[in-house]
Amino acid sequence: MKRFIPETRAVNVVKRFTCDELAELLTAYLEDALDQPSRDGMRAHLSCCEGCGRYFEQFRATIKVLGDQPPEKLSAPVRDRLMSAFRERHRHHS
Ligand SMILES: [Zn+2]
Repeated sequence: MKRFIPETRAVNVVKRFTCDELAELLTAYLEDALDQPSRDGMRAHLSCCEGCGRYFEQFRATIKVLGDQPPEKLSAPVRDRLMSAFRERHRHHS
């Protein structure tokens, strides 16, 4: 009698993120707050999406300028500014 062994396919599934989803999760990513599939998905997206890659660098640079504060310490206005910078970039991209 065969025993039912659940497949571990889930391990190989890389989440796909849209640019918007990536923007929403960027702070969580920098805080190490994402699960592994999500982290892999973020990395995959960042490596193949030039706009998000640049946004990510800008985001990190901004955090550095602010004095190495953890992302969750970013003030709401700073977050908003980064978010709108991101949306602007993508709106003009087309
Ligand atoms: Zn993207």
